[in-house]
Amino acid sequence: MTDRSQNGATDWHALSPEEALDQLESHREGLDSQDAKRRLDEYGPNQLQQAESRPWYRRLAEQFNNVLMLILIVAAVASQLLGHSLDAAVIVAVVVIIALIGFFQEGKAERALDSIRTMLSPQAKVLRDGKRATLDAESLVPGDIVLIESGDRVPADLRLIKSQRLRTQEAPLTGESEPVEKSSEAVDADAALAERSAMAHAGTLVVQGSARGLVVETGRHTQIGRISEMLQGVETLKTPLLAQLDRAGNVLAIFIVGGAAFAAAFGIFVHGQPATEMFMAAVALAVAAIPQGLPAIVTIGLAIGVQAMARRNAIIRRLPAVETLGSISTIFTDKTGTLTRNEMTARAIRLAAREVRLSGVGFSPEGSLHEASEAAEGETEDETREEKGETLDLGDYPDLERLLVAGVLCNEAELKQEDDSWFIEGDPTEGALVVAAAKAGLDVSRLREASPCLDTLPFESEYRYMATLNEIEGKKRILVKGAPDRLLDMCDRVRHDGEEVALDTQAWERHIKELSARGLRVLAIAEKVADEGESFEREDVEQGLVLLGMTGLLDPPREAAIEAVKQCLAAGIRPVMITGDHPETARAIAKKLGFSQTEHALAGRDIEAMSDEELEKSVREVDVFARAAPEHKLRLVKAMQAQGGICAMTGDGVNDGPALKRADVGVSMGIQGTEAAKEASEMVLADDDFATIERAIEEGRKVYDNIRKTITFLLPTNGAESLAVLLAMLGGMTLPITGLQILWVNMVTAVTLGMALVFESPEADLMRRKPRDPDAPLLDLFMLWRVLFVSVLLVATVVGLFFWVRSQGGSLELARAVAVNMLVMGEIVYLLNSRYVVGRSLSLQGLFGSRPVLLAIGLVIAIQLGWTYLPFMQLLFEGEPLSPIHWGLILTAGVGLFMVVELEKWVLRHFDLVSTGQTAIRREGARQQA
Ligand code: ATP
Repeated sequence: MTDRSQNGATDWHALSPEEALDQLESHREGLDSQDAKRRLDEYGPNQLQQAESRPWYRRLAEQFNNVLMLILIVAAVASQLLGHSLDAAVIVAVVVIIALIGFFQEGKAERALDSIRTMLSPQAKVLRDGKRATLDAESLVPGDIVLIESGDRVPADLRLIKSQRLRTQEAPLTGESEPVEKSSEAVDADAALAERSAMAHAGTLVVQGSARGLVVETGRHTQIGRISEMLQGVETLKTPLLAQLDRAGNVLAIFIVGGAAFAAAFGIFVHGQPATEMFMAAVALAVAAIPQGLPAIVTIGLAIGVQAMARRNAIIRRLPAVETLGSISTIFTDKTGTLTRNEMTARAIRLAAREVRLSGVGFSPEGSLHEASEAAEGETEDETREEKGETLDLGDYPDLERLLVAGVLCNEAELKQEDDSWFIEGDPTEGALVVAAAKAGLDVSRLREASPCLDTLPFESEYRYMATLNEIEGKKRILVKGAPDRLLDMCDRVRHDGEEVALDTQAWERHIKELSARGLRVLAIAEKVADEGESFEREDVEQGLVLLGMTGLLDPPREAAIEAVKQCLAAGIRPVMITGDHPETARAIAKKLGFSQTEHALAGRDIEAMSDEELEKSVREVDVFARAAPEHKLRLVKAMQAQGGICAMTGDGVNDGPALKRADVGVSMGIQGTEAAKEASEMVLADDDFATIERAIEEGRKVYDNIRKTITFLLPTNGAESLAVLLAMLGGMTLPITGLQILWVNMVTAVTLGMALVFESPEADLMRRKPRDPDAPLLDLFMLWRVLFVSVLLVATVVGLFFWVRSQGGSLELARAVAVNMLVMGEIVYLLNSRYVVGRSLSLQGLFGSRPVLLAIGLVIAIQLGWTYLPFMQLLFEGEPLSPIHWGLILTAGVGLFMVVELEKWVLRHFDLVSTGQTAIRREGARQQA
């Protein structure tokens, strides 16, 4: 065997397939697993070195790249220069702590995203032990035989040994975006990389056709591995929300600097205060106004959201999608496999002379065939026959046998059994035909051996048919199966009781309609005598075919999808089906799923005939788009977005890329989806299930809601502190709280409490609200009101108690310690208020219903007692221990504050003053009662 790691230069493209196979001691049926395992030890896994994520020192440095941090640093330096070393030291400590929290949290979030990304490791279809298997691409070894088809990313460097119209796009390698044609013919040894048509290189994309290739180089020995060792850098963690916070931070910074300068000047010139003291007060004001813990909490909130979604099978590829999901108003979704189970079962076969029904469900080949009774339609009749054990004898039905045989030969699926369950390796639509043939008693593998396939035109959505060239009993015949409307155009005769007769197109159109209306996916099967030769072209197939008949395949809706559609409609989200299937079939399925507008289905043709304006109107009124191609998906998304809709769009094929990218959230399929689709999408469904999209939206709404709650919870603390300092400066009085004490409250208690809200469970009406307007500011008027209102309440209690202690002859230290504890008590009760934005918190559930909230409160109480009574804390923060009477007052004021906020919520609810979800529902309820 060649020593590949040293001699990676073998000109594989110049060798014939056989020579390449020999050189790697492999053969066309692939390796056996033991040999593969040994080679894996020898060559190592087929992977490229991942790009290093942002180096730690850059991540750390970036924490300081923020105006608010700069203000703090300036404040520290100034404090030092003015001789307040303790203040300077604490501010520096706080700056470091903020940076570290941000640093570790971002690290954690990046790791969480990375671990999720590994869930998306690419797969490869390979022949091992002579059988098809799907493996992680990492386990490929030189000598493996790999199968690639349209939409796949080539997993390793392959010497093609059989190629069927393969075209790949090699932009990652050559920069050329036009697809290039491939074949298994050897080329010159000195051919340039772009001309090595006998090779499919790792990292390039299959855009058409299919092929078998011998793995010749893996991992870093591949061409792409040699060009760059690094793949996919880690993307930034910036999301629109974080960017909005950054912008808000900049505005805040201007206010802080302006306000502090003004207040200091006022103190110096109006009240004749000493400049140094005023400067320290200005520092306290700056420190008070900055919500230091906020960015860390928001990042954690987003990371928790990403993880929760992953647990629910929705894998986020780009972080901003977490937020966008919450405002989705339309979900454009595929049908097959997403809304339905993709467990195709043939239920009916329409021949020229009669209809045959099949019994049995799933992929198990147990069941029978019998003629459909003219008198009785439906399952009961079939079941009675089945009980009687009646099944028809193929000998008496030559048309049926011919159709079943063609269906099995023009077909790449294999029926397999593991333990007691049957499954399909390959396309379930094709699998259903294999199962049908088995039910009729045909031996599928013997048929395929007896009539080998010489050439294939694989199924592609844009052509909607598949064709093979087979040698059947010594004669060459082309077999075709595909969408019935498509095949009718290609046929001119039909087999009727062994004869070829003229095709009655209208009668067959009726058959198609009738089968589709039953919700069956219809597949027509046809044949044609072929010329001599080992290959054929599309022109050979697309005319002069003889129709053999049609099969009706049942693909039941997913139970979970029915429920999810209901949830979506309640949440103001419209599911819209876009499918390649027949309009009638699509409509029948949409009805079963509970879609709201299923009277009409529009076909791809109709979309083409429409102007953009017409399409914008239709997209509002129609829920089912059938016989649609990827370019129609793109137009539909655009039409919806033109009207302000926020769209999710699902896709699995190589051509779905543009629509996935254009959609606000592109969603690709983890199981059925091609690599190309996954790469174009923001989110991948690990289970291909529509219900997963709905759950991800729910999670997205929850994340946003909780972050908003956290912000409205945190800001009043800053508001109250700033107000207290500002009032003191403008009034020429001593500060009721010092800068250090403010930092303590912001950094320790507020963050601990605020974190609890990130973990809150969703409010009951989360999925009964309208989707969030993505342009709405994070803090709307109502939220600003709430922040201001609570700030004033807090400052009143804090300053009130401060003066009360002073008036009772208490020392400045005692009065400040009471003020700090009052502030923390205010935070604790307002945390309980904040659990529901306008809903009632004064209930058992509201007060005790959240473990994280109770835990955070318990923790803060313990910390605060330590702060008040531990001698070193008293020394550091210049505090004095409180007596029971102080605690009594603080508690009473706390309860009062809680009740006032609850009262405000009651007023808002009662007078319908704020249009949150809840009030919207109440209005809806009232309207229904009326
Ligand atoms: P979606 O997943 O978007 O709902 P779909 O999977 O139903 O769409 P396609 O896979 O594009 O749509 O199939 C379109 C039509 O092509 C089907 O209605 C069927 O008649 C035909 N068809 C599907 N699979 C095959 C196949 N393997 N061979 C031949 N014809 C097929």
